[in-house]
Amino acid sequence: MGKILVLDAQIANQIAAGEVVERPASIVKELIENSIDAGSNRIEIIIQEGGFSSIQVKDNGEGMDEEDVDKAFLRHATSKLKSDKDLFRIKTLGFRGEALPSIAAVSRLTLRTSNNKSGKGIEVKLEGGALVDKKETAYHQGTEILVENLFFNTPARLKYLKSLQTELGHIIDYVNRLSLAHPFVSFTLIHNEHMILRTNGDGKLLHVIAAIYGSEMAKSMIEIADENLDFQLTGYTSKPEITRANKSHISLFINGRYIRNYLLSQAVIRGYKTLLMVNRFPVSILQIQMDPSLVDVNVHPAKLEVRFSKEQELMKFIEETFANSLSEQTFIRQPVKADHPQINYQKPNYQKPVQNQFDFNLSPSSRTEELKEILETHEPYPKETPISKNSINIEEDSYLEDVTERNEETRQIRTIESKEDKLPLLDPIAQYRGTYIIAQSEEGLYLIDQHAAHERIYFEKNLKRMNEETQTSQELLVPITMDFPRSEAEQIINQLHQIKEAGIDIEAFGMQTFIVRAIPQWIPQGNETEILDKMVHMILTRNEIDIEELRKDMIAGMSCKAAIKANHYLTKREMEVLIEQLRETKNPFSCPHGRPIIIHFSNYEIEKMFKRVI
Ligand code: ADP
Ligand code: MG
Repeated sequence: MGKILVLDAQIANQIAAGEVVERPASIVKELIENSIDAGSNRIEIIIQEGGFSSIQVKDNGEGMDEEDVDKAFLRHATSKLKSDKDLFRIKTLGFRGEALPSIAAVSRLTLRTSNNKSGKGIEVKLEGGALVDKKETAYHQGTEILVENLFFNTPARLKYLKSLQTELGHIIDYVNRLSLAHPFVSFTLIHNEHMILRTNGDGKLLHVIAAIYGSEMAKSMIEIADENLDFQLTGYTSKPEITRANKSHISLFINGRYIRNYLLSQAVIRGYKTLLMVNRFPVSILQIQMDPSLVDVNVHPAKLEVRFSKEQELMKFIEETFANSLSEQTFIRQPVKADHPQINYQKPNYQKPVQNQFDFNLSPSSRTEELKEILETHEPYPKETPISKNSINIEEDSYLEDVTERNEETRQIRTIESKEDKLPLLDPIAQYRGTYIIAQSEEGLYLIDQHAAHERIYFEKNLKRMNEETQTSQELLVPITMDFPRSEAEQIINQLHQIKEAGIDIEAFGMQTFIVRAIPQWIPQGNETEILDKMVHMILTRNEIDIEELRKDMIAGMSCKAAIKANHYLTKREMEVLIEQLRETKNPFSCPHGRPIIIHFSNYEIEKMFKRVI
């Protein structure tokens, strides 16, 4: 007798459950997706104890009749694929017919449903996948599914689950993403009688963002909207000053399906160019519409990963669209407002400054005298302060070179302020702690980080210079050898022509070693391996080399080293020159690493702080 047996349905379903429903959150996801596929516009999710004791999902969708209910818990039973061709044009979220049998196999499940307005429906109960009860019941149109005692018959899986808080976190995460994907559906999520999320289903994505992230966030979002022949992009993305510590707030949807995709998230981040701080990531909600026949959603049991054609084109399009939308904005920072001032408010901690400009040992009366004298003799806008070239210590490139000649010219520029100016005319008033320039304009008060500002000026200057430089290669005195793991080496060999096109004389040497004999002139001595490493990394992650980005990275590093540091005292004239040059940069708002350069306090805000206005 042969040894091979065909598993019975119950065991088969339990095995499938391991893939489809690994934790409470995946059950929530599958049930909500069914509700959405059923055309619901109101979905209520009621959870007890992180989903461990119960999960209930109620909808007002099309419901099921008795025949459907009988089939719904059979494996591979679905109403969503009518023919084999449909598999290649999936428009629904579900299609594998696996969720209900899988969930039922590992829980005690109650389903109530009706597909008409008669007020009558059907109720069934299943335990570990076996039907234990079926009866007619009073029910309005729609479906509700209650899942209790999850994993009661698969204790190993139960053990594997994390804490209640962790599981609840995953549930909230899914519900958030699904509600972002479906603004026309009103979602309510309740955990242990507490309401966690409610969206109103009015179709406005911004309202969903407000419900999840708060209205401050929603107000400061930048709209994304663009399309080409293949793709349509819509959504919102945060201003560069509003960032998170990880990429998980970049939510991507393809045809209404939440997906995870490393390359597309990277494209979003690259769209920010140098506006983001290192290791900070935006909050972005991006809906991508494309022909469903170009997307293969059948590669992952929970359908979180998809494959699609024209991935490279989509990446480029996303990056460009984000870059364009962001460049249309100006990004002078506002002072950071706490989301909940009443909670986050901290008493200002007044510390005596370490180095004091005034002598506080004077008696009160003589101090007043002295202050009076200072105020009387001090002109608010001194005409000209002599410039000491040495007071700013810059090795190769003095940005103060032609200050005197430029003075007249500058003043003229000041009077014909053009509309295209990104920064208003700013007058430096003072320097704070040798680090920040305090300046004013008609519109209020500004704090400028002198190091960041100088870095930006250097960066743009050098970038221009470098782009003019020739691409010619220069031979290395000592060739560089580089080793890579086999899997990577193979990919590198396939793309070797790209590396060569970048001006690098590279040759494979054995299975995983490469020899570099010449590099382009723009790579400075001592930086060769670092830049080669980065190139290879680009090949491995994106299949192409972005020379522009490499150069930018490098120049950003150089500019940082060359720029004036904090704790460096500047004369008023030096501050003026710095501001003037900053105004001429393309992006005076953030340094090449994405840190802010300038912060603005509007007149109104200041007056408000002093309660002069309400
Ligand atoms: P799939 O979603 O892949 O089709 P499921 O196991 O999730 O498979 O569901 C099986 C079938 O049960 C669905 O195709 C659908 O016809 C029906 N169904 C499930 N949930 C609902 C619901 N909330 N409202 C109406 N029909 C539902
Ligand atoms: Mg389903």
